[in-house]
Amino acid sequence: MGLSYMRAVTIIPGSSGSLDLKDIAEPVPGKDAVLVKTRAIGICGTDRELIDGHYGEAPAGEKHLVLGHESLGRVIEAPPGYGLSRGDAVVGIVRHPDPAPCASCAAGEWDMCRNGRYTERGIKALHGFCSEFFSSEKAFLVKVDPALGLAAVLLEPASVLAKAWEHIEYIGRRARWSPRRVLVTGAGPVGLMAALMGVQRGLEVHVQDHNKEGAKPALVGELRASYHFEPVDAEFDVVIECTGVPAVIGKVLAMESANRIVCLTGLSPAKSDQALGVAPFNQAMVLKNQVVFGTVNANRRHYEAAADALARADRAWLNRVLTRKVPLANWREAYEKHPGDVKTVLVFED
Ligand code: BGC
Repeated sequence: MGLSYMRAVTIIPGSSGSLDLKDIAEPVPGKDAVLVKTRAIGICGTDRELIDGHYGEAPAGEKHLVLGHESLGRVIEAPPGYGLSRGDAVVGIVRHPDPAPCASCAAGEWDMCRNGRYTERGIKALHGFCSEFFSSEKAFLVKVDPALGLAAVLLEPASVLAKAWEHIEYIGRRARWSPRRVLVTGAGPVGLMAALMGVQRGLEVHVQDHNKEGAKPALVGELRASYHFEPVDAEFDVVIECTGVPAVIGKVLAMESANRIVCLTGLSPAKSDQALGVAPFNQAMVLKNQVVFGTVNANRRHYEAAADALARADRAWLNRVLTRKVPLANWREAYEKHPGDVKTVLVFED
């Protein structure tokens, strides 16, 4: 039997300008895997870093990497008794544990991998989901509510925030804790998911972003959170930093509230002149019992918590977060930055 081919968005890692739509062989799922037809792929800053050649690794022995780590698809075929059926809406988990798992990977907490030998679909040594079909083992697929429609493509970014909130709550339990006010910096998809989950917890949520135009102010308002163009002068129990902008982070770290927990989710550019005053930072941390921590990626528990958060969110609001839907025929446009973009998705099948 001859091979069947499908279209896939690829790069040659490390080589900017290598972004391409290529015909590659359709996946043939192994014994424990299923075939999924791709419905939509979300595009984020990490994809742009990969395209610019700053990041990424092809699978061993290959030159190209298929992009795409924010996925949504439907199961085409699954063996009987597998726990997934034809037609199920699924999202693929990005990170896979390293082959000789460290203690964290062995416990299913590959998001906390200790030795860096994990792999990530569409990012590090594993092909991504941005092809007409992909295959995956059940352990790395999460079922989503089909009623979410295309908005279920938000599950991966939401999983990163579900992890952030889980860790904030773990840290909060170090002592009596009754958080009231949250600051989210950045109203992109990550900030919006952070704000959504804060509102779902009954907290007073403030979102700070420099954009005065576009969908962001309204999206924040519809959540019943407050939108600010300028730094907010108030005491916050929790800050979730989602911009990665050194100047914004500098301001966040300089603010103080007793027992405050600051979670950094955004990645700063490699070069920056922003200085950190270690002594005042240390004094504020020690004397106010403050915590600053970073977070990346998510494990299955977080994907499931995120699926629950999306299922409880307003469907129309989630759909408005998808500000640009680009059909595969115009695939290159999906990787361009347009004014007013919040989340752009490449749509394989509407
Ligand atoms: C993805 C994470 C991934 C990280 C680093 C992010 O864009 O959402 O799943 O771990 O990039 O590669």
